[in-house]
Amino acid sequence: MSIKIIPQQQLEQQTINSVIRQIPLLFYPLPKTLYIRRAKRLKELATKSTFSDYLNFCATIAEQQANLVKHNPINIDIVNIENSEYPPLSLANLPLSTFWQDYLSQLLTLMTNTTEQVMSVIHQLKQNNTQQLQEKALHLLNGEFKCVAGNEAVFIWSALSVYYCQLASQVKGKAIAESTDKNWLCPVCNSMPVASVIQLGSNNGLRYLHCSLCESEWYVPRIKCTSCDNMKDIQYFSLDNQLAAIKTECCDACHSYLKILDQDKDPHIEIVADDIASLILDIKTEEEGYAKSGINPFIFAQ
Ligand SMILES: [Zn+2]
Ligand SMILES: [Zn+2]
Repeated sequence: MSIKIIPQQQLEQQTINSVIRQIPLLFYPLPKTLYIRRAKRLKELATKSTFSDYLNFCATIAEQQANLVKHNPINIDIVNIENSEYPPLSLANLPLSTFWQDYLSQLLTLMTNTTEQVMSVIHQLKQNNTQQLQEKALHLLNGEFKCVAGNEAVFIWSALSVYYCQLASQVKGKAIAESTDKNWLCPVCNSMPVASVIQLGSNNGLRYLHCSLCESEWYVPRIKCTSCDNMKDIQYFSLDNQLAAIKTECCDACHSYLKILDQDKDPHIEIVADDIASLILDIKTEEEGYAKSGINPFIFAQ
């Protein structure tokens, strides 16, 4: 099963009826509150973490992302970008404009009071011209993460996220379920998930994948590999006990894993923040021979 977005104007009455009867398949992001909540959670987690410096650094970026949304909201009309062929914000449907680079340049300027190491990355990034930055962004958006230095990617992705998250919040299309076997990429922007989440107070513990770029969340059934659709021999690992709020869901068919975070067990969970803070669980799961099938916006492999 996969989720597809149908433009509002193409919705026939019949489709509307079936959409209404279904469970919610997609949640568009709320950019005004999302980064504020993330920054707060990162700071909380930093107080009890062995890598608090990094969590605090991520919190600073999230705070600046919140500022960018507040003071420089996006001003792009996306009325005509929805069609039924591709996800509305995918590169195939919406070529990347240079608008996001304004966010990057402001983000780099706002990052004061940081370490020498971070300042040198900022300095290095500022040497790039518009075209070079555009090329780096396109590598990242196409999943070619090795083509961009990890410490630069964090800033580039953070700026891209502010851009895409706001665009996603303006998409009007309704989500429908299709019977295909591809459901692991975001139906809004075609990017990889961070992890999956069982939302607080959701009926029957429905779970959703959370997009690493545009921050939308889309439905995917439980006890099923989110990378290859396999439903057999799914294993779960956690650090503390069987009832832990954060587990890795591991597939023996494709040897991939992704975390599943349960807000019903811990209502404070913020998916990106808690995914980084539970890095030890990634290391343990990778030692068992599984490879992560998602990305965290603050962790790019070198
Ligand atoms: Zn997305
Ligand atoms: Zn699998």
